[in-house]
Amino acid sequence: MLVFKFGGASVKNAVSVKNLFSILNKYTDNQIIVVVSAMGKITSALESILDKYFNKSDFKSDFDILKNFHLDIISELFEDDYSDIYSDFNLLISELENRLSINPSSSYDYEYDQIVSFGEIFSTKIVSEYLKFMHIKNEWIDIRKFLKTDSIYRDAKINWELSERLLKNEIDFTQQKIYLTQGFIASNQNNNVTTLGREGSDFTAAVLAYVFDAEKLIIWKDVEGVFNSDPNEYKDVIKLDSISFTEAVELAYYGAKIIHPKTIKPLQNKNIVLEVKSFKNPEKQGTIISNSTENNLGVSPNVPIYIAKNNQILISIAPRDFSFIAEENLSNIFYVLAKYRVKVNLLQNSAVSFSICVDYDKNKVDAALSELNQDYKVLYNLNLTLITIRHYDSEIINEMTNKRKIFVQQKSRHTARFVVD
Ligand code: ASP
Ligand code: MG
Repeated sequence: MLVFKFGGASVKNAVSVKNLFSILNKYTDNQIIVVVSAMGKITSALESILDKYFNKSDFKSDFDILKNFHLDIISELFEDDYSDIYSDFNLLISELENRLSINPSSSYDYEYDQIVSFGEIFSTKIVSEYLKFMHIKNEWIDIRKFLKTDSIYRDAKINWELSERLLKNEIDFTQQKIYLTQGFIASNQNNNVTTLGREGSDFTAAVLAYVFDAEKLIIWKDVEGVFNSDPNEYKDVIKLDSISFTEAVELAYYGAKIIHPKTIKPLQNKNIVLEVKSFKNPEKQGTIISNSTENNLGVSPNVPIYIAKNNQILISIAPRDFSFIAEENLSNIFYVLAKYRVKVNLLQNSAVSFSICVDYDKNKVDAALSELNQDYKVLYNLNLTLITIRHYDSEIINEMTNKRKIFVQQKSRHTARFVVD
């Protein structure tokens, strides 16, 4: 069987939903689970409705925009006399409206999951009904009933054993060939909705691929695959034909926005091939991510891969009494970083100071800095960029660091990293 994942950009309007149909229409002989995200930028729109709801300000016009966005797509997709989707959608929208009419609980993260999860419910209902309308038989699955997690709202962890059992019980391909379901959302023991973190639909698709021993997971995107750098930022980028799982994990870790970092593990564990390919050009081979690649770098073609991560802060931390940076200091520093969920992108230490480069997420980082300031002398530089170059050569290093002030550099056999202004 196959698992397909369609992200927000692939269902951002009626034309793209029709395109999804035409892709799926070529695969109707296969057993497929289709995972769909919220339409277009709906997750962000729901986030801003949630913020207003939670802070008791007026979200009526945002709500109307959200509702009409979906209704416009529906009316473009269906003939007027097709009533099922209208009644289904109206029920869902009033469910959301009702939720938003009661006072929020005190937990923002809990409210987030209950409300933002509607995006995926709307999109999958519309897509499923449209496929039926176009005579592709499919079953809409409410994944909230089968994908079970802990109760860490907005960052829930999968209960693998339970989910596997429930999913296999529900999806068996005896009656149906195509199942259609939501990415990103799940539920906990009490059947409250949970979510897996922004961009979590890739991960849902990987979980389903794992559970059902898929031959392949295809992530359909608006780009033709994985490139050696961000096509939106750089010219002359090269599409990679194949990369290894290890390479993919490294790239995700260094900040390449290809796929959600959590996605790789379930696939790698069962050796399930992942293909990233374009929904605009579905005939064209995308990037294959698997255990094998032709060359020993794990990348084909054999080219340097470079990633620039902006909005970095470089922090240097030194004991106030000029004592050495030793294990106790380090464990204390990491304790504070973990406490505020500050993720370290790069670190370097000398005898008397310790430097880290992290994403400048103001709330978290400022809180961590003020705590560290109590015991250490803390200095920092803002607005830096962290450049990572895999499989580097001197030419690409020059190109990337040219005329920039280098604050930190590190090179290992395959990877060169620079913190620059
Ligand atoms: N809709 C969610 C988001 O935009 C999940 C996803 O698309 O992967 O983050
Ligand atoms: Mg998305």
